[in-house]
Amino acid sequence: MNIPLIDLRAQYLSVDAEIQNAVRTVLHSGAYVSGPEIRSFEQEMAQFTQSQYAISTANGTDSLILALEACGVGAGDEVITSPYTFFATAEAIARVGAVPVFADIDRRTYNLSPEHVERKVTSRTKAIIPVHIFGQPAEMDAFLDIARRRHLYIIEDACQALGATYKGRPVGSIGHIGCVSFFPTKNLGGYGDGGIVLTNDEDMARKVRLLASHGSTRKYYHDAVGYNSRLDELQAAILRVKLGKLNEWNKLRREKAEYYSGQLLAPGIALPHSINDIVHVYHIYMIEFKEREALSSYLNEAGIATGHYYPCPLHLQKAFVDLGYKSGDLPAAEAASERAIALPMFPELTMEQQQYIVSRINKFIESQ
Ligand SMILES: *Cc1c(COP(=O)(O)O)cnc(C)c1O
Repeated sequence: MNIPLIDLRAQYLSVDAEIQNAVRTVLHSGAYVSGPEIRSFEQEMAQFTQSQYAISTANGTDSLILALEACGVGAGDEVITSPYTFFATAEAIARVGAVPVFADIDRRTYNLSPEHVERKVTSRTKAIIPVHIFGQPAEMDAFLDIARRRHLYIIEDACQALGATYKGRPVGSIGHIGCVSFFPTKNLGGYGDGGIVLTNDEDMARKVRLLASHGSTRKYYHDAVGYNSRLDELQAAILRVKLGKLNEWNKLRREKAEYYSGQLLAPGIALPHSINDIVHVYHIYMIEFKEREALSSYLNEAGIATGHYYPCPLHLQKAFVDLGYKSGDLPAAEAASERAIALPMFPELTMEQQQYIVSRINKFIESQ
């Protein structure tokens, strides 16, 4: 058997005819940017996330940059975030001229720890970016409380967690502003790049929309220096088809996760830990084992792909050497980066594939 970490082709085949139709409609329409598909998709996304405003962008990284700008974050400001996330979260902070400040994670959930964040707040702190990592909502109440007391913005990085909820609220709509990516591997993935910004704040929504389109509201008149960061009609049409399936796909991911967690032998293996009153959407199913390399190569030889997210925490990235962090500064993130192993996880994963994966892992553990 050969089992990939994620099988995008299997998902495409399940929506082949609908996507072909949607694509053909756009190609025949003659409208390829800023047309009716975008308007409908933005409305549907606003509804899906219970947000007042949804503004589509070219990708998740731009969503973060635009959200930071909408919060007025710039040179001299500090933004606190997780060291255990995709690089783009901190890259966006640096890109707008601010300083990324890394606080350690909760060792069990991999999410940014509110206690560690609180200790890093200074007079220069302007915002916090909690990341709903691997599909599990961050502890939003604690972050909102810090934000209220210290007068900060909360920018949610919901790139991995679309469809997840925290105390019944869809992620991305809980803080001041939220960011989503439609990169092909995300839970709602297009066939190219894409992103969206969510907010209930009219002013922020206006700013994001203005900046995403050359600072212009009227053709050839520009109120600000912005970006060219738009989703196109083809991707919007594709994403509209797939958005209709997202809840079902996320439910399938949860079922696969439950199966793994119920079948994997506990000794020596750490299974995913969920906090209360959330719905996890398992963008990634992560286990830990202290002999990670041995387990990974055993599985790879058995035809099972594994992933190491993230092999180098952000505070130790070469791009951020000037920030002055050193190994040992954020021990929880560093330990996770050495031990975590992602197992194959996608809605189309079959029972037969999962049984095979579980049997291989349990066999390996027993032999230890
Ligand atoms: C994917 C991702 C991004 C960036 O999204 P792109 O669409 O690839 O630019 C940002 N943050 C997190 C946590 C992500 O997983």
